[in-house]
Amino acid sequence: MNYISTRGGLPVNAGTAILKGLADDGGLYVPSSFPILTKEDFEKLIPLDYPERATEILSLFLDDYTKEEIKEFAIKAYDKFDGDPAPVLKIDESMFVLELFHGPTCAFKDLALSILPYLMISARKKAGEKDKTLILVATSGDTGKAAAEGFKDVENTEIVVLYPSEGVSELQKLQMTTSEGENVHFIGIEGNFDQAQSLVKKIFSNKKSVERFKKLGYSLSSANSINWGRLVSQIVYYISAYLDILGCEEIKPNEKINFVVPTGNFGNILSAYYAKKMGVPINRLIVASNSNDVLTQFFNEGLYNSKRKFYKTMSPSMDILVSSNLERLLFEVSGRDASFISKLMGDLNKKGEYSIDYNLLKQNIPEFIAYMSDEDNTAEGIKIFYEMYDYLIDPHTSVATNAYSDYIYEKKDKTSSVIVSTASAYKFASDVYKSLTGNIERNALNALKKLHDYTMTDIPDNLIELDLLPILHDKVVNISEAEEAIFDIFENK
Ligand SMILES: *Cc1c(COP(=O)(O)O)cnc(C)c1O
Repeated sequence: MNYISTRGGLPVNAGTAILKGLADDGGLYVPSSFPILTKEDFEKLIPLDYPERATEILSLFLDDYTKEEIKEFAIKAYDKFDGDPAPVLKIDESMFVLELFHGPTCAFKDLALSILPYLMISARKKAGEKDKTLILVATSGDTGKAAAEGFKDVENTEIVVLYPSEGVSELQKLQMTTSEGENVHFIGIEGNFDQAQSLVKKIFSNKKSVERFKKLGYSLSSANSINWGRLVSQIVYYISAYLDILGCEEIKPNEKINFVVPTGNFGNILSAYYAKKMGVPINRLIVASNSNDVLTQFFNEGLYNSKRKFYKTMSPSMDILVSSNLERLLFEVSGRDASFISKLMGDLNKKGEYSIDYNLLKQNIPEFIAYMSDEDNTAEGIKIFYEMYDYLIDPHTSVATNAYSDYIYEKKDKTSSVIVSTASAYKFASDVYKSLTGNIERNALNALKKLHDYTMTDIPDNLIELDLLPILHDKVVNISEAEEAIFDIFENK
């Protein structure tokens, strides 16, 4: 299968799309078409375990890899999880939770970033790549650590992560600053995720920077969700969740379900949309935003306006005003019109906004509907969900459960709905503890214990261990100095 850039250009194969991350024209790679799964296909997938399902689904897209290869990668990748990588829990008559936080870093990024390194190493080999690979990552909190876990000590590969030094939870920061691996580098920036992401994209499309890395022996790649390898791996858990619910006969064949997804860079929910394109019977895709509700406005009005106040919230992984993956959705909405997309992205760059005909949205993507949850409601949502269902959710997931409540209130829809739970509550222990009890515990490691004592739920092992690890990365620079700081790592080696 070929991959094309949302802004035009020549098609490439899957390995190249994954290795490059971003197309040369600044666009994002998308598959030339979507494979379709039939009712019979779904039936065959039901008895399979997660790595087997992943093998079948990934093979449809990554046809320049052998099925044996993909199987080996999937088994190794998902072996690092604590049990089922993507279990579905029934919460009430029509509400389910898809738990995506059982990986090494307790957030959904692990599902894709555990397998991405294997796909990249193999793509390097297939392409006969002589350069070393330098993975440049911008993180809003969770991608950085998950990518570092996935790529640590991978040969011929270095990884540099830019994170907003004051814009992540204390535990997210600890996870990053204590990361091991000779090839792993973290740079804190005085700035936010959008600035970090925009710098990474700028470096990718700046010939001078690319040349300078090349001289040092490196080709650039990305582990952000701009990389197709991330999105394709995320499609798997949407199909898997559907199979689980269908397999338990909670729904009939062809009966539709909804997914509710806490959204920032639009990568996670876009994978759900792709699952729908492949034949998963999806009724609604509910886009849940925190106070940075740029997407809520977009889906309600057709106006994407990134010139607005930036809020630091208790769901920091969604503190994003420029959602990169929306570009891929717009590509589909516009009937795959690359010049139209180039124009919109040019507007975004120059004016900080773009707009598209609202009727086009309503006609072409009627499944999308968007809601926002502010900080008070998010805190309240954690408490209510715990009291009603005896189930602990993190702030990102609470943004989703609130969006779902708003949706039910507005549309009275009884369709079975899956809340996508993207992180362990313990990763945001201080805020979750405060939301539940009203008590303040600023020290994140103490908050872990207090949250445990209050709820008697298990603290994930890899968070407890943070207490014992030394800080290995403490560099913080102004965003304007970040590019030089990256070169510094390699030029002065
Ligand atoms: C990254 C992240 C999100 C947002 O996912 P996108 O793919 O950026 O929309 C939501 N919740 C958590 C916990 C995350 O780490």
